[in-house]
Amino acid sequence: MSKRDYYEVLGVAKGADDKDIKKAYKRLAMKFHPDRTQGDKTMEEKFKEVQEAYEVLSDEQKRAAYDRYGHAGVDPNRGAGGFGGGAGGADFGDIFGDVFGDIFGGGGRRGQSRAQRGSDLRYNLELSLEEAVRGKSVDIKVPTMVSCDSCDGSGAKKGTSAKSCPTCHGAGQVTMRQGFFAVQQTCPTCNGRGKIIPEPCTKCHGEGRIEKTKTLSVKIPAGVDTGDRIRLTGEGEAGMHGAPAGDLYVQVHVKEHPIFVRDGNNLYCDVPLSFTTAALGGEIDVPTLDGRVKLKIPAETQTDKMFRLRGKGVQSVRGGGVGDLVCKVVIETPVNLSEKQKELLRQLDDSMAGDGEAKHRPKSKGFFDGVKKFFDDLTS
Ligand SMILES: [Zn+2]
Ligand SMILES: [Zn+2]
Repeated sequence: MSKRDYYEVLGVAKGADDKDIKKAYKRLAMKFHPDRTQGDKTMEEKFKEVQEAYEVLSDEQKRAAYDRYGHAGVDPNRGAGGFGGGAGGADFGDIFGDVFGDIFGGGGRRGQSRAQRGSDLRYNLELSLEEAVRGKSVDIKVPTMVSCDSCDGSGAKKGTSAKSCPTCHGAGQVTMRQGFFAVQQTCPTCNGRGKIIPEPCTKCHGEGRIEKTKTLSVKIPAGVDTGDRIRLTGEGEAGMHGAPAGDLYVQVHVKEHPIFVRDGNNLYCDVPLSFTTAALGGEIDVPTLDGRVKLKIPAETQTDKMFRLRGKGVQSVRGGGVGDLVCKVVIETPVNLSEKQKELLRQLDDSMAGDGEAKHRPKSKGFFDGVKKFFDDLTS
């Protein structure tokens, strides 16, 4: 039987340094260790092969001889080195250290990369009130992970494929025995996937997915509001090794509007009203999201009175009716009056005083009664 190249056995390059060789050895020795492979003969052979390769490549002299003469330079059967496939001399302390680390929670490897659904993503989308009310299509750019196009997400190099994990034989779990204890743990070779990729795809390094900024066209339904989110199924991060993708959530945030305040499907706005129109009645223009509309102001309208314009609010995104626009009139005190205008106001005031104060001041009576009661209560 021809022997495999030692470097190939350890999966390292010819010029690999000691550190890399040791690392590769530890990984493989752990993978093929008889304690874990439960009497599988092929695995045992592999374990010996790895041991042998490491004994040679970790020893400066033997490695030099091997590099020059190949297997002939270091053939153990010729007595050149005195190693024979046993566990003697190998760095087991470290190996078991790693294993225990895994079982007892010290290692970060357990379950880390099990084939599972990709992560969900969140995209914060700011909309103006008009956009939220009418709905729109927006293009959003999302940095994410997408399935690798080179290997179709499998992680295996073109023309190769994933193989059943030799350590756990596809189960994803191995049983570790330590004296009386039998501990079930995630297979360290395949991290629970049950499969390994002998030749990883060069583009995604075996992950089966790559980073990419996706541009997505999202249809925002009319009537959305701050706090609403739109789920795009399967537009989240691609899973590893071809696992299903997560979802993308577009989180809506509606910006403040200079005129309207929204509460549910209703809109609110303050409308200034001259005191003359308030007193005499008339018609004013009020803004809606669809443009101006006329609002009839009855005579003797007081400040803060609300006028409800039915159906001028927001169409509910969840179906059902359209909200209202509620206009609150705010009566303005005139400013920058000329002397003549001031005089007219004084005349008006005098004429009203002649009628008796309360007649023209609907709020005053109640107010002054309240004030009187307030002071009476204080002094009693
Ligand atoms: Zn496995
Ligand atoms: Zn790939």
